[in-house]
Amino acid sequence: MSSTSTSSSSIPGLRGTFDGRVTVPDDAGYDQARRVFYGKYDRRPAAIVRPVDAAEVAQVVSLAHDGGLELAVRSGGHSLAGHSTTEGGIVLDLSELTALDVDQEGRTAWAQTGLTAGAYTTAVGAHGLATGFGDTASVGIGGLTLGGGVGFLVRKHGLTIDNLLAAEVVTADGRVLQVDAERHPDLFWAIRGGGGNFGVATRFRFRLHELPSIVGGMLLLPGSAEVIEALVATAEAAPEELSMIANVMVAPPMPFLPASAHGQLVVMALLAYVGEAGAGQRVVAPFRALAEPIADMVQPMPYAGLFEPVDDMEVVEESARSMFLDAVDHTAARTILEHLQASTAPMAVAQLRVLGGAMARVPAEATAFAHRDRRIMAGVGCVYEDARDRPTHHAWADGFAAALRQGDPGVYVNFLTDEGRERVREAYPGPTWDRLVEVKRRYDPGNLFRLNQNIPPLPGPPDRDARGMRRQTNT
Ligand SMILES: Cc1cc2nc3c(=O)[nH]c(=O)nc-3n(C[C@H](O)[C@H](O)[C@H](O)COP(=O)(O)OP(=O)(O)OC[C@H]3O[C@@H](n4cnc5c(N)ncnc54)[C@H](O)[C@@H]3O)c2cc1C
Repeated sequence: MSSTSTSSSSIPGLRGTFDGRVTVPDDAGYDQARRVFYGKYDRRPAAIVRPVDAAEVAQVVSLAHDGGLELAVRSGGHSLAGHSTTEGGIVLDLSELTALDVDQEGRTAWAQTGLTAGAYTTAVGAHGLATGFGDTASVGIGGLTLGGGVGFLVRKHGLTIDNLLAAEVVTADGRVLQVDAERHPDLFWAIRGGGGNFGVATRFRFRLHELPSIVGGMLLLPGSAEVIEALVATAEAAPEELSMIANVMVAPPMPFLPASAHGQLVVMALLAYVGEAGAGQRVVAPFRALAEPIADMVQPMPYAGLFEPVDDMEVVEESARSMFLDAVDHTAARTILEHLQASTAPMAVAQLRVLGGAMARVPAEATAFAHRDRRIMAGVGCVYEDARDRPTHHAWADGFAAALRQGDPGVYVNFLTDEGRERVREAYPGPTWDRLVEVKRRYDPGNLFRLNQNIPPLPGPPDRDARGMRRQTNT
């Protein structure tokens, strides 16, 4: 354990030592520097600070701690809940931390947490190697990893955290800790699913898998209840080398689509088969046979091909809800179609991710992501521009989620928006919550790291709700 705490006690003080890497409201680049992925989180921090190493991160953490300033930690800026910006506090912007050190022989990589999933995937892909993140290149590996990480390799290689071997973490008291199964094992357990509650992760050490190529890409099918039901069944029956993320939506006017498909309900299934091309084509064949594909882009390709950098669509407003499902039967498929058709937003989507495989073989208590036995993850959402339409679209998303919900409550923390404490509890059922609170008390008793899906350091009253989860009433 090393200690690098310093006492830069003011923002002007930091400006003196951070050499142009502190941006305040009067600076020319302020509006650009404060932007996050979701335009609705249009907040005005007192400063955006871009450290270049863990020691500088510790300086900023100490400044926020000592000065009582709200601290927002930003890796890729994709928080659905707007947690990586603040009104009047400090944004710790990790975008300068982009070093990547690949140990090709040892099949591991040390990655600084300002890297995006796309940048990491492209860089290690040049060695024919991969670590699984999510489905979008611009998402930061910081937030994604700390919440769990569910992507195209989930059934073959598990969650991102199942491939996390060690981390460097700056804690609330300004210490820089090296964390793994032997050193600070409680903290190592908590950061694998517990989000940014315990400190600032500055580096991750990941396991790399040999992955010279995949059979993958997009298969666009007509959006009928029969196709949706059969698609999920086919993905569940497929060998775990195949993972699928399917979006059901009204087809936007995309250039590769025939004009006749525009405005029609479609299923955009993104497939990734990890393995040899011939076997991959055989595994993909039953998907192609579900219906006459509207477009078929599934082919042998480098894994990084799934992460082609594209200009992010500008998302201003979004209403979204996420949950786990036990099955998608005909009734569920019809519910999906009916609610998509009822949306008045310019774009509405239902996303289905089939889980299982390697992810399900990790014991629930091994990490802070406990939903190991859930079979399907579903998300419903719509995007629009005008904040005045928010109540309408929130009500639509709530109604859609309620109609679809089945089985035990539960949610993947990284797909939570700003939904209140009870929903955060759903992310951490039963003993996981109690253990997280204990670790939080040890490493962040003052709740400095509270701009997140927060796990408050104090235990709540010991009453239990109907699901056997202890209720949390304090903050
Ligand atoms: C378009 C889109 C696609 C997505 N696809 C997927 C997907 O396929 N799979 C999936 O698993 N998730 C996915 N997500 C969810 C994503 O994992 C979360 O939004 C995640 O928090 C984003 O990480 P970030 O670093 O970009 O976000 P940020 O907004 O920078 O960070 C989010 C929060 O994470 C914490 N945090 C971030 N970095 C650190 C750090 N280094 N140390 C401590 N705390 C930190 C902070 O609390 C911060 O507020 C997607 C999100 C979007 C918007």
